[in-house]
Amino acid sequence: MFDYIIVGAGISGIVVAERIANVLNKKVLIIEKRNHIGGNCFDYLDKTGIYIHKYGPHIFHTNYKEVFEYLSNFTEWYYYTHRVLVYVDGKKIPLPINFISIEELFPEHISKNVISTLLSNFRYGEKVSILELLKNEKPDLQFIGKYIYKKVFLNYTKKQWGKSPEEIDPDIVARVPIVLSKDSRYFQDRYQGIPLEGYTKMFERMLMNSNIKLLLNTDYKEIIKLDFECKKIYFFGQEYKGKLIFTGKIDELFNYKFGILPYRSLNFELKFIDKEFFQEVAVVNYPNDYDFTRITEFKHFLPTDSHVTVLAYEYPKDYQLDSEPFYPLLTNESKELYYKYLEFSKNFNNLYLLGRLGEYRYYDMDDAVKRALELFEEIG
Ligand code: UDP
Repeated sequence: MFDYIIVGAGISGIVVAERIANVLNKKVLIIEKRNHIGGNCFDYLDKTGIYIHKYGPHIFHTNYKEVFEYLSNFTEWYYYTHRVLVYVDGKKIPLPINFISIEELFPEHISKNVISTLLSNFRYGEKVSILELLKNEKPDLQFIGKYIYKKVFLNYTKKQWGKSPEEIDPDIVARVPIVLSKDSRYFQDRYQGIPLEGYTKMFERMLMNSNIKLLLNTDYKEIIKLDFECKKIYFFGQEYKGKLIFTGKIDELFNYKFGILPYRSLNFELKFIDKEFFQEVAVVNYPNDYDFTRITEFKHFLPTDSHVTVLAYEYPKDYQLDSEPFYPLLTNESKELYYKYLEFSKNFNNLYLLGRLGEYRYYDMDDAVKRALELFEEIG
């Protein structure tokens, strides 16, 4: 009956479902454990009139024109530019660290030297990872690197991941480079914005097709079984010969047979405050103070008439099998374990893995959409 089954109604699953239904005109079933669509991009309009991102701040940004154009079929955009401040030594300075931050971080006579040292070693406008800077042998660059590392990266990363920056995949801290200009935008991508009526509304429009059936509040394990010996998939006890696109945790799919993949989880504490604004920008990071990593003030993301404000305090926590897996915890060891699962998954010729959990990748929204569109081209 269903040509395709998709496990997970997050951004990846929704994109593939939309393509299958609208382009191929084929039937697709989506099975979702939660009581809502959108995965961790889910947002809702609170009674205050403010859109809240239930699973933390999501800002869409991309250099992929095709991804931006694709999503623009389902939403208009509010052209928001994301700005982040980081609280260091009692001051809030712009992040990514750039020349403006350096001027605020160091006394004037030192900041001039810091900037000229950076510019005599790198090109103007270049983006340099903190770990690259630390590796440099020149003592003056070492000094700058160590200082920024200690003030901005070390303790934030320890809080966020329970590990130091050297222990995790270097691409993770490189997401927030040192920017050698006065550009203090958090993302420098060509396209940036927030769906004008929220992410959930955009996803609802993508799913608006009678070819798509959505089962919320349903654990896929109640319906789908994998036979590891015969390498077959069963749907309600019958062999399933259509295509299964799985966006859940790959280790769970295979009964943790090679071991548990590590993830990092989060807790959000919402605070409602009876004033117009609490902070200058949507996100302020706290690397060295308090137990939370950042405070998000949602009101900055979309226009609203509200006279109150809503904040989310973000507390990273260890992942247990029953907690929400927000981020894959990428280390050499965890990646090796993932590849074992990936190899094993190839035994099933109608199984496709997708998304942050299925592919065990730290995807941004645009990468997730891009990969989902590619998978559709491969299997559609
Ligand atoms: N990071 C940091 N200090 C900061 C912000 C980020 O050390 O103030 C590091 C940290 O390791 C973090 C990574 O950079 O996990 C990526 O940050 P990003 O803001 O991209 O994380 P996300 O918004 O995806 O949670």
